[in-house]
Amino acid sequence: MPLPHQLLLDQLGQLIATPSVSSTDPHWDQGNRPVVERLAAWAGDLGFSTEIIDVTPDGKKANLLATLGSGPGGLVLAGHTDTVPFDEGRWQSDPLSMVERDQRLYGLGSTDMKGFFPVALAAAAAFREQPLQQPLMLLATADEESSMNGARALAAAGRPKARAAIIGEPTSLTPVRMHKGIMMHAVTVTGRAGHSSNPGLGNNALEGMHTVMTELMQYRATLAERYSNPLFEIAYPTLNLGCIHGGDNPNRICGSTELHFDLRMTPNGDNAEVQHEIEQRLEELSGQLGFDIALKPLVKPVPPFEQPADSELVQLAEQLTGHSAHAVAYATEAPFLQQLGMETLVMGPGSIDRAHQPDEYMELEQIQPCIDLLSKLIAHYCL
Ligand SMILES: [Zn+2]
Repeated sequence: MPLPHQLLLDQLGQLIATPSVSSTDPHWDQGNRPVVERLAAWAGDLGFSTEIIDVTPDGKKANLLATLGSGPGGLVLAGHTDTVPFDEGRWQSDPLSMVERDQRLYGLGSTDMKGFFPVALAAAAAFREQPLQQPLMLLATADEESSMNGARALAAAGRPKARAAIIGEPTSLTPVRMHKGIMMHAVTVTGRAGHSSNPGLGNNALEGMHTVMTELMQYRATLAERYSNPLFEIAYPTLNLGCIHGGDNPNRICGSTELHFDLRMTPNGDNAEVQHEIEQRLEELSGQLGFDIALKPLVKPVPPFEQPADSELVQLAEQLTGHSAHAVAYATEAPFLQQLGMETLVMGPGSIDRAHQPDEYMELEQIQPCIDLLSKLIAHYCL
């Protein structure tokens, strides 16, 4: 196996050494701008025109859109520049310093997914002398691991536009054309507190929540019936009751309680429709039981994603990799890029099993095959 060239290793080492954690916990949350600036400089060296687009008003979070060639159509190679937080004590080596060991490159974000960028740049480098008929774009986003605000901003701005987009999340170079969505909601039930010795003195919110939970579990069974999809390992939408808070004393009627749940919808269903149906069911319960029942989102939802099996990009990726496109259990920025009108696929180097783990690594043996695969895709869409 030919060793990946030194430039690629240097670049990945620099990306790993430039921390860009994104987190809903402000203690952890960092900007990604230094990562994006490095990528812009390297893409600029290859002849790309580069544009850094602020995602937060202070510019600490930003997306990069780098373009080689011009015109309509073309291909987007996309990835996120942020990483999850890390627990340094559980790493064998410094997570922010790339270490090569056992044919692997260790470091935070090596596989998820800073490693994709030097690989994409290496593939692009082969085309710098050739006039492209359609543009090649490198897209690097902010905040995928926390809010997906980078991808949301792009979708809202209506760019980039191309014929196809590859998101280089670690899939061990197999094509992924489907994932579930994510919604997280809180339900609050408000009744009336009172002394426990006389139930008539209050309206017990815990008992109201009991009915709400039963309703949610019944609705979950309905969703499973309506929206099952055998391509997923868990072949139906899931609804998990995650945590509950309420009440304070055995001898007080509970006045209010709050439940948090997540719901992961299969691609044949729609987040907004499901939310509307839950609202309707809760409204009915509220009327029957005399509680105030409110539903509110805890995070912005991620839509489910499906790229049709018979689309050009899926067929091409299957042919080039020899693997049929499959479904995964995690969510990506794919639905936001697809909203822009691009055929979209998730496919990149490294294994998702190593992501979000201490001692995260990318296998060296993934690198050259990924460069080759991306080169063929660039040739197909841009030459
Ligand atoms: Zn990722």
